[in-house]
Amino acid sequence: MQLKQFRQEAGGRVRMVWDDGHDGGVSLQPLRDACPCAGCKGETILLQTFVPPPPDVATPGRYVLKGASMVGNYGLQLQWADGHGEGIYSWEILRALCECPQCVAERMASETPPR
Ligand SMILES: [Zn+2]
Ligand SMILES: [Zn+2]
Repeated sequence: MQLKQFRQEAGGRVRMVWDDGHDGGVSLQPLRDACPCAGCKGETILLQTFVPPPPDVATPGRYVLKGASMVGNYGLQLQWADGHGEGIYSWEILRALCECPQCVAERMASETPPR
């Protein structure tokens, strides 16, 4: 599975087309909130777990995408207008963010029902 096309569209949305023919997309806000870098998601160094503070969603440019570049053939590095750009989104992360009706339905079906 590999991303073929990653294009920003009107309305704060990015279209993602995959090599398996899947044609979906994601909004910029959940995309940025899913940033996988250590500063956003935390990390464990020498058994010390670093938990980042909650994101300041009011930062100007936080949800403005400036650019995207391929990293090898496993992911995409996204550059945001507030200067943030360390996160490398693997294909798995991007695919899990897909908001097309098919993916949303699949995700809902795979969620364990509350006991
Ligand atoms: Zn980040
Ligand atoms: Zn999808």
